[in-house]
Amino acid sequence: MSGGPVGRFAPSPSGRLHLGNLGCSLLAWLSAKSRGGKIVLRIEDLDAARCPRVYADQLEEDLAWLGLVWDEGGSQGGTHGPYYQSECSEIYTQSYKKLEKMHLVYPCFCSRAQLHAASAPHTSDGNVVYPGTCRDLTPAEVAAKAQVKAPAWRLKVPDEVISFEDGCMGPHAENLLTDCGDFYLRRADGVFAYQLAVVVDDARMGVTEVVRGADLLSSTARQLYLYRLLGLKAPAFAHCPLLLAADGRRLSKRDGDQSLENLRGKYTAPEIVGKLAWLYGIQPEPAPRTPESLLAEFDWAKVPKADICIPEGLF
Ligand code: GLU
Repeated sequence: MSGGPVGRFAPSPSGRLHLGNLGCSLLAWLSAKSRGGKIVLRIEDLDAARCPRVYADQLEEDLAWLGLVWDEGGSQGGTHGPYYQSECSEIYTQSYKKLEKMHLVYPCFCSRAQLHAASAPHTSDGNVVYPGTCRDLTPAEVAAKAQVKAPAWRLKVPDEVISFEDGCMGPHAENLLTDCGDFYLRRADGVFAYQLAVVVDDARMGVTEVVRGADLLSSTARQLYLYRLLGLKAPAFAHCPLLLAADGRRLSKRDGDQSLENLRGKYTAPEIVGKLAWLYGIQPEPAPRTPESLLAEFDWAKVPKADICIPEGLF
């Protein structure tokens, strides 16, 4: 193994990749490869019903078409892969049990509608800061509620500020209790939550550098807390600016026009990579480029912190 950083692509295959997913993958690839590192591909299909394997296969094909080649994982496996989160619940169970033993996990019976109806403050990513409604239920109350519905499971968080230096966004700090609240570890149907799976996986895959969209910046404090509780070494984080449609909307997998399905019919891979590299400030014009040709120019200091609007007509 090389001595450089280990980065990763961690897409959720609930649809075709859009430009924002591609942009983050490009930055993750450049960041790791420009320092002699490698990339692991992990398919984040925890919600297996929403993430059919055909999308995962398509996504591999799209990344490879763009020249964003990974070193481990994916359907070919590499040294240790393939990594499909939907196949790893045994592994997540072990970490979950450790947290249970610390008496930090409790059942929560609140419905989404109840949480949103309460006038609790919202987190920066639009969720409700959990007000702790089910935190101190007595065993009798839990037993009575469990007759009516299966609970989800939350992790108790302390009233503590977690700070870190983000490789793109700079210093960031969040109070676990007041900015987020106790968070989900497991859904009522037994599926493990993203926050737990991502920490366990990044640690066991030896990831030393997480590059992802700024919409996940506010998850990082929760994840750092989990690393600490589980005695795992946390990676470095760099959150890249979001790409927005020309009218300021966030791109989503439902945006057909910015999905690879449409773009592959219109542009070559170097044309798409070159336009993305220009949007992120890596090159001064949107000229066609291969990922390799950008390695020498890549520098996080060039990447803007604010969201980026894709100008009309660029794609
Ligand atoms: N699977 C997540 C997504 O596709 C990314 C999670 C992460 O990078 O930590 O949005």
